[in-house]
Amino acid sequence: MELWNEQGTKPLDASKPQLWESSSQREASRMTDGKDLLSPQPRPTVRRLSSATADFKGLNIGPHVVVPPKHMDSPSNAHETAAALELAKHRLKDLDSGDGVVTPSTPPETTTTDSYAFAFDIDGVLIRGGKPIPEAVEAMKVLNGQNEYGIKVPYIFLTNGGGKTEQERCVDLSRQLELEISPGQFICGHTPMREMAQKYKTVLVVGGEGEKCRLVAEGYGFRDVVTPGDIMKDNDRTTPFRRLTDQETQNSRVRNFGETEIEAIFVFADSRHWGDDQQIIIDLLTSKNGRLGTSSENYDEGPPIYFSHNDLIWSAAHEHTRLGMGALRSSLEAIYKSITGKDLVSTAFGKPQLGTFQFATRLLQQWRKDTHGINKPPETVYFVGDTPESDIRGTNEFNESKLSENDWYSILVRTGVFKEGTKPRYTPRITVNNVLDAVNHGIKREMSKASKAQAKNTEEAIDEIVDGVPVGDE
Ligand SMILES: [Mg+2]
Repeated sequence: MELWNEQGTKPLDASKPQLWESSSQREASRMTDGKDLLSPQPRPTVRRLSSATADFKGLNIGPHVVVPPKHMDSPSNAHETAAALELAKHRLKDLDSGDGVVTPSTPPETTTTDSYAFAFDIDGVLIRGGKPIPEAVEAMKVLNGQNEYGIKVPYIFLTNGGGKTEQERCVDLSRQLELEISPGQFICGHTPMREMAQKYKTVLVVGGEGEKCRLVAEGYGFRDVVTPGDIMKDNDRTTPFRRLTDQETQNSRVRNFGETEIEAIFVFADSRHWGDDQQIIIDLLTSKNGRLGTSSENYDEGPPIYFSHNDLIWSAAHEHTRLGMGALRSSLEAIYKSITGKDLVSTAFGKPQLGTFQFATRLLQQWRKDTHGINKPPETVYFVGDTPESDIRGTNEFNESKLSENDWYSILVRTGVFKEGTKPRYTPRITVNNVLDAVNHGIKREMSKASKAQAKNTEEAIDEIVDGVPVGDE
């Protein structure tokens, strides 16, 4: 029921305009109980009552009560509907470029996108034989904002390679790609080994040039690091066919290995002397508690062995692929099996291990937060690699696992181990010629997604509006 004003001509709350009215409504609104409400009406008798003088009779003799037509009692959303239509018109105007084709507007953030990111393998994607792949420099420029959309895209590097500190590797890569790369956006094969530094006291570190991997391991916090050189220096009969060079002898540390228990073996980088390293590793794997010179009877007392990755082959300067750490692992497994009759239990980090992709997820999150102020995971991570067995397999399996919070999209490039005419063992979401094509593909895909999402939102807004428009009685 509505109260009438003192003039008795319109309801007090009838201030909102009614935009639609059917002819039957109009007639009904004029005629109620045989009275024409729109014609001048006699003013109702309204008396003001004072609380001091009001009596029972006065309270019961009120003004006329007029009951309005029923449809006028119903709530109207006409005003909201008109406003929403106006808003939708403006949105459509923004989206329409004028030629009838709906195109995405320039993203509001002209600096960094928060919805996607890139991760790159290095060898065979950005670098080959120590030199940048021609399109790599341009690809980095595109990610840093030199693209038609004016956006920057965060990125990290995830390589199975290693043998230097992350800082040294970043300096090399910065020079090669002509931009500054931070260790905060860089993971190499042995980076996840950092998390095992406190687990073991004395460890053997294998691979890399000279003393570099020992220094890397010590930088990770490993407390007592020995090298094959230390062992050969202590006992030069360890490797019958090779003696340490003067430089190696000088670098290697003096130690009595008869009193040392090596608790774990870490192959940090590619071995430079397979035969010697394999001999020393087998000596330890078949020892009692990692003490050189002892021999286990049941072959289950040796220390565990970890590899920083398991790439069987990799793309170097040579026209054909070269044997990688995975090949060393395979040969050690075969030798161990031949000697002991048992299968060697070993652990590999790096791609395609899901743990490495989890590590990359954490690094990317930290990098986006520290550098770009983005405090949420990206919806999509484009991973660009050249090796189906590590890059593509790892990306696909991580994406399909429950460990991944976002869409990991694998892109295979043809600049590395890819062989024309062969079908990769693990299928990428797309194969492109080079890293520049990969970057352009990802950015275009994202812009297309954004455009479709905007168009869908507008469509839904219009649908909502149309659903909300009151239908006339006729
Ligand atoms: Mg590679």
